[in-house]
Amino acid sequence: MLPYFIDSHCHLDFSKFNRDREEVIHRAKEAGACEMINSGIDLKTNISTLELAKTHDCIHPTIGLSPMLATNPDKDRPQEVLSQLDEQAGQAIGIGEAGVDYYHCTDEKLRKRQRDIFEQVISIAEKHTKPLVIHGRDAEEEALAMAGHLDRVIFHCYGGSLETMKKITDAGHYISIPTLVCFSSHHKEIAATVPEELMLIETDSPYLSPRKGRNEPAYLIDSINTIAEKRNMEPADVAEITRKNTYTAFKI
Ligand SMILES: [Zn+2]
Repeated sequence: MLPYFIDSHCHLDFSKFNRDREEVIHRAKEAGACEMINSGIDLKTNISTLELAKTHDCIHPTIGLSPMLATNPDKDRPQEVLSQLDEQAGQAIGIGEAGVDYYHCTDEKLRKRQRDIFEQVISIAEKHTKPLVIHGRDAEEEALAMAGHLDRVIFHCYGGSLETMKKITDAGHYISIPTLVCFSSHHKEIAATVPEELMLIETDSPYLSPRKGRNEPAYLIDSINTIAEKRNMEPADVAEITRKNTYTAFKI
């Protein structure tokens, strides 16, 4: 039996779980994922994240602002989400996910808009002394340059280069390994080389399933086994170390 472990990033409030949310949480606990960090990305999911955490002791909330809000005129106005973050920060264990996404956004003007909004999210995390959960797809260097001065930063679903990872971890910040590690050789390399004391694990449920279809926190066990093999460690140690690192990163 593994010691219990933490899914450091998921979205169990999303509608993909409307049908069987309680069963998913039950299965997570049965598998050993006894705690989960649920992250909001906009006005609606920040509210549902805080609600979910209120009714489940095993779920810790972070509230955020997706970089895609900066570039999607049909979604919430970023300014409203920024006010929400500032007002509700006290109820969350962290701010995010937030950041910059150069993979989905290729237009330089829109990328600048993402950076301007992210700058304001960083100020809110700083003001409330909360850790910042970064979404920095294909923009990891940029995100580090902007937020690296904060006390605690977590690069969620890290898929950047090993060079940038070294800069992140040299600055004392955390790398969260997604379940992509089960089938991506690049993520296996990340898992093999990240310093042990700065390694977190996550599913990003409902995305990035290692078993096809919808992902869920119970499947984190697949990552634990893969990471253990790559690092020549016992799965129990991967579970325990990443759980403790998550406590430190988020001051849980
Ligand atoms: Zn996410």
